Amino acid sequence: MKLFNLTDKVALITGGNGGIGFAMAKAIGEAGATVVIAGRNEDKNKKSIEELNSLNVKCKSLIVDVVNENSCNQLIEDVVQIYGKLNILINNAGTNIRKRPEEYELKEWTSIIDTNLVSTFTCSKAAFKHFKCINSGKIINIGSMHSLFGAPLGSAYSASKGGVVQLTKSLANTWAKDNIQVNAVLPGYIDTTLTRQARVDIPELQKRVEERTPAGRWGDPDDLGGIAVFLSSDASNYVTGTAIPVDGGYSING
Ligand code: NDP
Repeated sequence: MKLFNLTDKVALITGGNGGIGFAMAKAIGEAGATVVIAGRNEDKNKKSIEELNSLNVKCKSLIVDVVNENSCNQLIEDVVQIYGKLNILINNAGTNIRKRPEEYELKEWTSIIDTNLVSTFTCSKAAFKHFKCINSGKIINIGSMHSLFGAPLGSAYSASKGGVVQLTKSLANTWAKDNIQVNAVLPGYIDTTLTRQARVDIPELQKRVEERTPAGRWGDPDDLGGIAVFLSSDASNYVTGTAIPVDGGYSING
C-alpha cells in the first residue's frame, strides 16, 4: 500500500543493533527504506547487518556513542554524506541501572539521563537542519511505561523517559511548520537484553507483567514493527506530538 511505502526513504536507528531498535529497523527496511543502524558494539552491528541482508533490506551500520555530542553529530553527517539525505530518525538507544534512589552515585544517575534523554535532543538537533532542507522529516522517540509511571528502582530511567515525552511534544510543536513530525512510542514490557536483566534483578517481574497485561503476555520486539512503519510513513503526516503505548494494554489496566 502506497501510504505505508518507505521506498526512497533513509532511516537512522540509534541502538538499531538489537532488541526493539533492530525490530524497527527490520520492519521499516521491509517497507522499502534504506536503514542505518548505529550502536557502540561492532560485533552486534555486524550480526544485525547480516540478518538484514538476508531479508534483502538495504542497510549499513555505523558506530556511535550517543552520550557524546560529537559522535552524534558525526553520525548524522555521515548518513547524509553517504546517502545524500536523512528522512527518518529513531532515537532508540537506551539503558538502565536499577537501584533505590538513595543508592545512586550522581555519575550513574546522569549517565542514564545522558543516554536516554540528552542523546534524543542531540540527535534530533543534528537531524533538524537536514530535515529542514527537504521540508520533511520523521522523528520517533522511544519512551516507556516509565514515561507514565514511577519506577521504585528506576528514578533516573523514569525521569529520562518522562522527559522524552515532554521533549517530543516541544520538538513537535516547534518543528510542525517545517513538516517534521515528532512522536514517541511507549513500549510495554518487551523481551530484550534490557528486560532480561530486569527479570534477574526483580525475580517476580515476569509473572507480575503477565498478570497485569490484558494481552496476557510479554511483548516481542517485532510487536513494535507496525508502529515504526506507521510513524515513519505518509500515513502519519498529520500525527505529531503523541506518545503511543504499544503495551498489550498494560497502561490501561488500573
Ligand atoms: P537493548 O539492550 O536490547 O538495546 C539497547 C540498545 O541501545 C542497544 O542496541 C545498544 O547498542 C544501544 N545503546 C545503549 N547505550 C548506547 C550508547 N551510549 N551509544 C549508542 N548506543 C547505545 O534494549 P531494548 O531493545 O529493550 O531497548 C531499546 C529502547 O527501548 C531503550 O530506549 C529502552 O529504554 C526502551 N524500552 C524498552 C522496553 C523493554 O521492555 N525492553 C520497554 C520500554 C522502553 P550497543 O550495545 O551497541 O551499545
